[in-house]
Amino acid sequence: MGDPRHDFDQLLQQRRWLDPIPLELQRAYRAQRLEEFNRLVKLWGPLLPISFIAFQAFTLIFYTAELHGPDLTLLFSTEGVVVVAILLGLLVAHQPAWRLSYEKWIPWVLGLILAIKVVAGFNLASAFLAINQVYITLLVVLIGTLSLQLPIRACLKGCVLGGLPFLALPWVANLHYGLLFFGHYVLTTTVVMSVVAMREDKDRMMFLQSMQLSHERQEVQRLNVELAELARKDALTGLPNRRVFDEALRSEWDRARRHRASLALLMIDVDHFKRYNDRYGHPAGDHCLVEIAGAIGGVVRRPGDVAARYGGEEFVILLPGTNAEGACELAARLIHKVDALRLPHEASLTAPHVTVSIGVSVCVPLGATSAQSLTDEADAALYAAKAAGRHTLQCRTVGQADGDQLSP
Ligand code: GH3
Ligand code: MG
Ligand code: MG
Repeated sequence: MGDPRHDFDQLLQQRRWLDPIPLELQRAYRAQRLEEFNRLVKLWGPLLPISFIAFQAFTLIFYTAELHGPDLTLLFSTEGVVVVAILLGLLVAHQPAWRLSYEKWIPWVLGLILAIKVVAGFNLASAFLAINQVYITLLVVLIGTLSLQLPIRACLKGCVLGGLPFLALPWVANLHYGLLFFGHYVLTTTVVMSVVAMREDKDRMMFLQSMQLSHERQEVQRLNVELAELARKDALTGLPNRRVFDEALRSEWDRARRHRASLALLMIDVDHFKRYNDRYGHPAGDHCLVEIAGAIGGVVRRPGDVAARYGGEEFVILLPGTNAEGACELAARLIHKVDALRLPHEASLTAPHVTVSIGVSVCVPLGATSAQSLTDEADAALYAAKAAGRHTLQCRTVGQADGDQLSP
């Protein structure tokens, strides 16, 4: 299937009556039918022998005039065989191995039950009783096929097998009686088939709709995951975005406070980036940001570290459990890494290539300090790095006024 959603729509729109299930869905359809059969056998199985016995009881009560002599014996004996056949069928249906191939053996059980009644019908002296017996049997077959939701093919096969004794029609003594009997059989099986076919068509339609629905549900789930990812990713650089950073800062701040651990933040800004854009154009500026983001992502190694795009040409790196020394060492490494990219920047007043300035702030959260103070200090340190000539880093410890300028 190309676009499965489109195919489902088309399948349902162009579907004709009793259209077969497409090959690629047949496995799923069979599995669903089998599961349904298992459920229905447990639910409705007992109904079959009960309904058959109830119908026979009806015959016994209301056909007393016809029920005597050999007809009564024949009726009782065939009734017994049919009940045994139904019970055996149900017993087999409860065996997991046989249940798997129920479509194969059920027509034979149906055929056998019908054939017994047809043969009995030929031998009953009362035509009235014979036709009554065939109607009752077909009614039970109808109850069986509907309650167990048997496939139309199995039902058709069963009815054809059950009708095989009619092949002996040319040899029956009373042809008129035989043809009348045959006519009744054809009429009732046609009604049974039509009802089963209507149910099966509805069944196939519902299966296709359920497949379409489950496919749509999967698609919605996939889109939700994609959307959640997109909502956390910066579209240009692929780095986590500001939202992810804000969340991480809040949780890492709380964690650092609980463990009295050090938390470091690097605020990275591309130097003279406006000039870069003006000189090389916005698309080249975008490309430059992607390269720098790659370098930033490359210096972050520990699982808890978060590198994100803060906005514009500014990036941040949050380093849980890192002291000033470690954070400054990483910042210096990043400055070198960006230098090593050797991205030409002829308009820069600092270097012939693209450079970054970094403000580092470090804190062991205590008392009244807040996560905001960490970003404020990093921002102030960045401002100081810019003032100090750019292409450098400044480090500040939250709560400490002056920072140290470190050469990259
Ligand atoms: P400084 O060295 O002081 O940081 O100077 P600057 O030019 O880098 O700083 P300024 O804040 O004046 O300019 C930032 C520029 O970054 C302006 C803006 O057009 C550009 N910029 C921000 N976001 C993007 C982006 O997504 N793509 C591109 N190409 N440019 C961006
Ligand atoms: Mg800036
Ligand atoms: Mg800048």
